[in-house]
Amino acid sequence: MTASPYQFFDVEVLRAEHLTPAMIRVAFAGPDLPRMATGGRDQRIKIFLPHPGQDAPVMPDTSGNTLDWYAAWCALDPAVRGIMRTYTTRELRRDPDELIVDFAVHGPAPSPADGPATSWARTARPGARIGVLAPVHEENGAYDFCPPQDTEWLLLAADESALPAVANILDTLPPGLPVRVWIELHDLADRQDLPTKADAQVHWLTQEGTTPEAIRGADLPDGVPYAWIAGESATVKAIRRHLVGERGFDRKKVAFSGYWRRGTTTDQLIDSGESA
Ligand SMILES: Cc1cc2nc3c(=O)[nH]c(=O)nc-3n(C[C@H](O)[C@H](O)[C@H](O)COP(=O)(O)OP(=O)(O)OC[C@H]3O[C@@H](n4cnc5c(N)ncnc54)[C@H](O)[C@@H]3O)c2cc1C
Repeated sequence: MTASPYQFFDVEVLRAEHLTPAMIRVAFAGPDLPRMATGGRDQRIKIFLPHPGQDAPVMPDTSGNTLDWYAAWCALDPAVRGIMRTYTTRELRRDPDELIVDFAVHGPAPSPADGPATSWARTARPGARIGVLAPVHEENGAYDFCPPQDTEWLLLAADESALPAVANILDTLPPGLPVRVWIELHDLADRQDLPTKADAQVHWLTQEGTTPEAIRGADLPDGVPYAWIAGESATVKAIRRHLVGERGFDRKKVAFSGYWRRGTTTDQLIDSGESA
């Protein structure tokens, strides 16, 4: 049997703090965290949240074989099984082992439109238990940022939901690499320091869906580009269409991922088969 590159982890909250008004950083600890790995700057993980009234999420019993974890999770009663969402490993710390996840909470105050993950993050307290599906090997299929050797400059476009991945990407780039970054926020108060050795120009935008227009009006560097785009699905598609259709980017050098869809919950995307 092929070994799965993923494993379920039981973790609990160590700390939860506001990084900015609408970004909550949560540090998790757990007995198996030494086995957890991260392979990419935009390493995705699944989190499983308890329903109201549950102390811990109900997780599928895969008896050590996580290859068919999704089928096992789908077979559980949706009213009882852990609520699944996708997040990014912001950092995997050692000595002591801590998993850091940054939750964008779509505005500083609770709202009736908040989904379960957003509500959970707003009220996360030390000791709160969740499940995580994460890699145990650095080589795993759950990341997209893979610029080829011949890349001469980078274009990054994101919103708050993909800001953790952008921060990770920028943090690891080589000195002097030209990078153009566009980030949409609801509020400039959510800007973060984005340490990097690269030659990065960061543009912060505050109007939803305006990144395609901003990029359309930009002077872009010469040379071979690689683009990484993530955030609201329609915005991501519009940016990709512009880069490939109007700017002549090689489509194989445009990594793109819809992190959420306006007016649609993750559960609706899962039910329709558009997200796993
Ligand atoms: C690969 C990947 C990595 C991701 N990494 C992160 C991460 O590190 N940090 C992070 O915060 N998010 C991340 N996301 C996005 C996150 O999974 C979604 O925002 C998710 O919908 C949040 O779940 P929820 O329960 O709060 O809302 P849901 O129940 O899924 O949706 C409820 C409502 O909120 C709306 N909504 C969802 N997200 C947003 C948003 N960002 N802004 C405004 N409205 C929204 C939906 O359209 C819906 O109307 C990632 C997504 C993917 C696919």
